[in-house]
Amino acid sequence: MPETNFPNLADVFMARKRIKNMVVKTPLIKSTSLSRLAGADVYLKLETVQPTGSFKARGAANKIVSLSPEQKENGVIAFSTGNHGRAVAEMSRRFGLKSVICLSERVPSFRVEAMRALGAEVVAYGQSQDEAYAKALSIQKERNLTMVAPFDDPMVISGQGTIALEIFEDLPETASVAVPLSGGGLFAGVAMAAKSINPKTKLIGVSMAVAPAMIRSLEAGKPVEIPEKDSLADALLGGIGLDNQYTFPMTRQYIDQQILVSEEEIGAAMVHAFLNERRVIEGSGAVGIAALLAGKLKTPGPIVLVISGGNVDPRQLHDLVAAKIDQ
Ligand SMILES: *Cc1c(COP(=O)(O)O)cnc(C)c1O
Repeated sequence: MPETNFPNLADVFMARKRIKNMVVKTPLIKSTSLSRLAGADVYLKLETVQPTGSFKARGAANKIVSLSPEQKENGVIAFSTGNHGRAVAEMSRRFGLKSVICLSERVPSFRVEAMRALGAEVVAYGQSQDEAYAKALSIQKERNLTMVAPFDDPMVISGQGTIALEIFEDLPETASVAVPLSGGGLFAGVAMAAKSINPKTKLIGVSMAVAPAMIRSLEAGKPVEIPEKDSLADALLGGIGLDNQYTFPMTRQYIDQQILVSEEEIGAAMVHAFLNERRVIEGSGAVGIAALLAGKLKTPGPIVLVISGGNVDPRQLHDLVAAKIDQ
């Protein structure tokens, strides 16, 4: 087996240079309501304002600009629960690359439409991420495309890690960072960079309780498969890959605390963000707020919650808010 080259802080700085003009430096905003509840300063790192509405723009941009001219000529392919596909579609469009996005038929239709609107060829196939992935692999071979992996790729991890550079520039005294955790590209990048900048930083991974693939894998000591479920945090669904090379070992190395949140807690967090902060946050982006509101996040402040995305189905948010208001 070839020796694995884990990305490091220098890779994150290089990523930032490469993607500077394609992504935004997102705001870090103090939350009055959450700071009061937590008894510590709580800040929101708002990846919701990133192009295509999630942090995935960072990793996708870093990967795509680094491709060879020949790879760019042939185009790219991605498999995705939605936000990764959207980011790959947008970054490809900006660079004039062709993109194919494969996803399972379980992905909500509003997400599929968003990718089509960005000019990607969308292939909806199968009932699980694994089936969609198998389909993506066969199309990749057939058409000689480059696969842009959603999380287990050093370029993608380094791109997501640029979030930590911005956090420490804006708030050098950051003591804890809570990160939504699924495949672990976001966690691995942010945690590696944060710990490299200040090894005392506490890194908390937050997953939804119904299907926490990374946390089950950490418990098992190796990547494991878990059954797919529906969740308000639909961008956290999917496995970590049985052949995982980077994000599993990196998450295991850097994680200080793991937190699971229920569907009810995620819904309450989305509603809280909307009513108290006037922010539209998707379920996956709200898991840090959910952990805090549920009293599960007891870590030193200042605490930064990475708000990973805002691509919520408007009907879903409407129903949750209406249910709360009508109580
Ligand atoms: C992809 C995604 C995550 C999880 O990121 P991983 O790198 O797979 O752990 C969290 N939140 C949102 C909004 C996402 O799109």
